[in-house]
Amino acid sequence: MDKHEPETVRSTSSYVNNGNINDHEGDMIRWFEEVSAKAGAVQTEVLCRILKENFKVEYLNKWLLVGKEEINVAEMDACALESLFTSVVPLSSHEDFEPFIQRIADGDTASILTQQPITTLSLSSGTTEGRQKFVPFTRHSAQTTLETFTLSAAYRSRVYPIREGGKILEFIYSGNQFKTKGGLIAGTATTHYYASEEFRIKQERTKSFTCSPYEVISAGDYKQSTYCHLLLGLFFSHDVEFITSAFVYGIVQAFRSFEELWRDLCNDIRHGTLSSRIKVPKMREAVLEIITANQSLASRIEGICEEVEVMDWFGLIPKLWPNAKYVYSIMTGSMQPYLKRLRHYANGLPLVSGDYGSSESWIGVNVDPSSPPESVTFAVVPTFSYFEFIPLYRHKHSCGSSHDAAAADDFVEDKPIPLSKVKVGQEYEIALTTFTGLYRCRLGDVVEVGGFHNGTPKLNFICRRKLILTVNIDKNTEKDLQAVVEKASHILHSQTNNNAELVDFTSYAELTTQPGCYVIFWEIKGDAHDHVLQSCSTEMDAAFVDYGYVVSRKTSSIGPLELCIVEKGTFKKILDCFVANGATLGQFKTPRCTNNPLLLNILHACTLKIFRSTAYA
Ligand code: AMP
Repeated sequence: MDKHEPETVRSTSSYVNNGNINDHEGDMIRWFEEVSAKAGAVQTEVLCRILKENFKVEYLNKWLLVGKEEINVAEMDACALESLFTSVVPLSSHEDFEPFIQRIADGDTASILTQQPITTLSLSSGTTEGRQKFVPFTRHSAQTTLETFTLSAAYRSRVYPIREGGKILEFIYSGNQFKTKGGLIAGTATTHYYASEEFRIKQERTKSFTCSPYEVISAGDYKQSTYCHLLLGLFFSHDVEFITSAFVYGIVQAFRSFEELWRDLCNDIRHGTLSSRIKVPKMREAVLEIITANQSLASRIEGICEEVEVMDWFGLIPKLWPNAKYVYSIMTGSMQPYLKRLRHYANGLPLVSGDYGSSESWIGVNVDPSSPPESVTFAVVPTFSYFEFIPLYRHKHSCGSSHDAAAADDFVEDKPIPLSKVKVGQEYEIALTTFTGLYRCRLGDVVEVGGFHNGTPKLNFICRRKLILTVNIDKNTEKDLQAVVEKASHILHSQTNNNAELVDFTSYAELTTQPGCYVIFWEIKGDAHDHVLQSCSTEMDAAFVDYGYVVSRKTSSIGPLELCIVEKGTFKKILDCFVANGATLGQFKTPRCTNNPLLLNILHACTLKIFRSTAYA
């Protein structure tokens, strides 16, 4: 075993025989079974290690000094340190770390957040919060990414064994790495990971190899990379064991492109050429080195495409990749709306929901790969960071009067508790203390404990905590909006002859009119009569169950909901707008609510029709 193994993997020697898994996978599962069994104690030790390494840093100094006398952290036992830390260091949010991280980015080499210098910064996607933020990235971050992927691969192998040495069709994209003013390397966490040694090690450990060379992943133009991923995925179609992307949006968007590109792709396979749309020289060179002319494969693909095109591409994936065992990607939270289209392409091929993490830290792994994406849970890996859980209680009938959308919230919170004390059925916000210099930092996600894996909680992802739609006393989250849109999209699907379908959606609270109202934008595929879209808008308005919303609608202090139908390709323009501003396709999440003027300009400019709800009339 090598130096990258988690500490406890190296020290274990018991034997697990679970189906078709290799030695390394057996080691990973044994390791996780052990650490999850004593998760509470592992967490105390993890916090102790973080603090003993870093207690002298500037951020912690101000809390760990009593009067003028320094507390003797180095000598303290782990339990005492845990209670000291959670009683004197306050809960924080990313904004509290921003000035410190900025100094690091500008080149201040003092021990600000960590004892070891930070040389790399990650850019979180910013698609949930609306703006990108810097988070420290260290070797530990790349190693936990490797551990997450190999651990979840091990659990998947027990249920869906794959052939060793097979290929993975991975729709993955790294963005640019650039230097900050102080000379630190900055880029998205996935960009750092794909460029790291760990990415190569993961392929060797899992004995599965990505179809595309690094030149395709790192080309910096997602449209060209998608074409090459598809081309190489088709070229190796008999070897592909599973299909994946970080977020399922990436797979759906790749197959939507495939619907347009398949003739060119077949042509390239037939002749061993590469379309002139691929302009990045290094990528051209790398791809041309791999592909060779294959007439019979091209004819097979052509035959399949002609057959499934008339069925709106139903069952495309298993037809083109006959040996694929499953599709693996994050399908929860804001990714759920893309599941319908993915199921259409996958025609019964198992969908395995990807793991749970953030740029700040990995959190949990899907250890029950056969659970459907709608009910998947993530077993917290207690060695990754120190996790605290802030209990959240919903105020179903609150009538608060906050007009500040950012501050408004429909949760009341209790004091944070350690991992060992969480209860099944309770909702929490997670706060993280990481090896990368974040201390008790709120993550902003709402999770629910769905059960336990040995002694570690299994979390359901519920939603982002921040409210997304609020005009006055109403409070609706991403999840509430998603439920309402889902309900109305059934009407769209069932009441149109051609089974029109929702491609994507977003919303905003219109506050400049009196009264304000919710505006929801839909891009649809297929045609729908105006009367159907009219009922969709009324259905959505009536389907928001939040008490504040219902009362406000009844008293007309919120106006009728507006459904705006936008032209085809609008959401692709939104993706392009994010990518132009430094996000990568791999981490992109369509913002479900936006007040970003650039996006609103695109949405308004592309609006074809507006339907005003007649609910509450
Ligand atoms: P980023 O800040 O770009 O690293 O994105 C991290 C955020 O993505 C998390 O805080 C979650 O809101 C979301 N996310 C990550 N993994 C999952 C998952 N498995 N299910 C749902 N949402 C997720």
